[in-house]
Amino acid sequence: MRTRPRTGKLLSRPWTLPVLAAAAVAAGLLTTVPYGTTGGGRGDGDAPAGPAAGRLAAAGAPQGKARPDARHVVLAVHGGAGTALQRDETSPEREKAYRDGLADAVRAGKKVLDRGGDSVSAVEAAVRSLEDNPLFNAGKGAVFTADAGHELDASIMRGSDLAAGAVAGVRHVRNPISAARLVMEKSPHVLLAGEGADGFAARNGLATVTQDYYWTQARWDALMAAKKKAGGDRSAAGARSSAALADEQAKGTVGAVARDGKRNLAAATSTGGLTNKMSGRIGDSPVVGAGTYAKNGTVAASATGDGEIFLRGAATATISHLMEFGGKDVAAAAYEVLVKRLPKLGGDGGVIALDGRGTFDAPHSSEGMLHAYLTEDGTIVTKIFPDETPPNT
Ligand code: ASP
Repeated sequence: MRTRPRTGKLLSRPWTLPVLAAAAVAAGLLTTVPYGTTGGGRGDGDAPAGPAAGRLAAAGAPQGKARPDARHVVLAVHGGAGTALQRDETSPEREKAYRDGLADAVRAGKKVLDRGGDSVSAVEAAVRSLEDNPLFNAGKGAVFTADAGHELDASIMRGSDLAAGAVAGVRHVRNPISAARLVMEKSPHVLLAGEGADGFAARNGLATVTQDYYWTQARWDALMAAKKKAGGDRSAAGARSSAALADEQAKGTVGAVARDGKRNLAAATSTGGLTNKMSGRIGDSPVVGAGTYAKNGTVAASATGDGEIFLRGAATATISHLMEFGGKDVAAAAYEVLVKRLPKLGGDGGVIALDGRGTFDAPHSSEGMLHAYLTEDGTIVTKIFPDETPPNT
């Protein structure tokens, strides 16, 4: 089933998708099950509602005052919110693979900054590294839609002039973040979607792939688990292999934030979206102000989590506004949005947020969030287990 990525040639009829779908239909698993909403939230109460409430309680409910994760940070990446890794259940090999993946991405961005590159190039390089890593839900390793396809979203933003570019629902670009950058720099638009975006990327020389390039067994298993869960499999085995797996594998979006030698900020985010999402569904990741935002003077931010909530809460733009108009510092603003406001809408997630002075925070209402950062002295710190991330208390 594996084929090598093809460059420069856009295949309009990937043959693997019908094969995968047919296999699933034969297994009695593939009906078009709309992605369930994350609803249940009231939107106006004081306490988190819906699924977030349970998860927050289980995670020890991050509440209290905000505090920065680190200072003197020049670049940071994330590999998604969620509960993918638990210390007592993760093998040393798996732990190492995740830490290496995050550190490699940081190093890719660092290389750009070290040679005098700008923050936009640094976040693009970091995100490309994560897109090429099958552990993460972006590029290779992207999750499956409800009809067993892959539709990828990405965006990038430059803090110096608020320039931004994004692609949504692309199916053939190997590195969606580079397509987003192309939209920013080579088109008069901000967001291109679907075939038009794939075609634009291919015409501008980006590598294109058939759908099977994105395939991984883990994501396929997660789709099957999600189908079983939606189908109401209540057996003990079903509960273990479906509900838990679907939750664990659902997240894994990637992102990066950076500031360069000229103190310009940039942010980038890339994702396959949510497992079992409806075809055509677009989340927060390609939407400027929701999944990604960068503005010199306030913040570079990249989000991960329940996209519908980040869209409705205008998450990353709100962090910037709270800093610009509310006088909050980066940690207080990010905390306010991620921990206090978004859970009330009925979902969870996290954000990496960096200001122009290098103050960095990674607040999350999900149990954990994989992330890593680079400080001015060249130190790289990776955090993959929930107990490594500050509980915001
Ligand atoms: N925010 C992404 C989306 O909704 C998913 C994620 O970050 O896990 O598409």
